[in-house]
Amino acid sequence: MASSKWDGFDCLGFDLETSGVDVWGDRIVTAALVAIWDDGRKRHLTSYVVDPGIDIPEGAAAIHGYTRDRAIREATHADPSQALFEISGRLATAMGRGIPIVGANLSYDLTLLETENRRLEVPTLVDRMGGHTKIQPVVDVMVLDKHVDPYRKGGRKLEQLCTTYGVKLDDAHNAGADALAACLLWPAIMRKHASKFPGMTLPALHQSQVGWKRKQMDGLREYFDKKGTEHDGCCGEWPLHRACAPALVGGAR
Ligand SMILES: [Zn+2]
Repeated sequence: MASSKWDGFDCLGFDLETSGVDVWGDRIVTAALVAIWDDGRKRHLTSYVVDPGIDIPEGAAAIHGYTRDRAIREATHADPSQALFEISGRLATAMGRGIPIVGANLSYDLTLLETENRRLEVPTLVDRMGGHTKIQPVVDVMVLDKHVDPYRKGGRKLEQLCTTYGVKLDDAHNAGADALAACLLWPAIMRKHASKFPGMTLPALHQSQVGWKRKQMDGLREYFDKKGTEHDGCCGEWPLHRACAPALVGGAR
């Protein structure tokens, strides 16, 4: 499957670095889209730096290296909404051609992008595709990894997945490097666990992940509840969060 050709490239890696972890309120700071073709040998990276319009908390800046001043200085577009328009346009074009969007924990990136699109009144992916169920095909290496190897010890961050599957990650939390790593992890996971994906088409793989993610988050919630650990609800919606949107973001549906 990963070797089929769709209009020149095989998949579009996507990653955001942001001001924090709240998909309903945090802002995009950097974004990367990596088109991959020729079995991963050919790559084209498009990078974005966006002025988030708010201060970037120190903790977040320490992870990706962007303070607000740096984001303003290095902004790739004078107007953040232009960057969002381009990013969403490229993602929508790929999906419209059946080219999968590939990333790690994509319900985070895609939901935050949609929140930003609404805030800046840019056409959303849902608008562009004609409904939230049309946000596909999407491939989330975090969902795949947990599905094929649910009990592995040692953490499931992108760095740890790269070690597990022998993928090189040069610069973790650089959006371009993370997006590329996800694109290389996808075929690596499927090769190592080929028997878990018998004859699966891309649309079937997308649909399967919807169910796998729900099950994974249900399991996590039960585990937290049993241990008495506080949690945020462990919403299993994928590839977009909608029902768990706070009332203020009612437009999320
Ligand atoms: Zn949700």
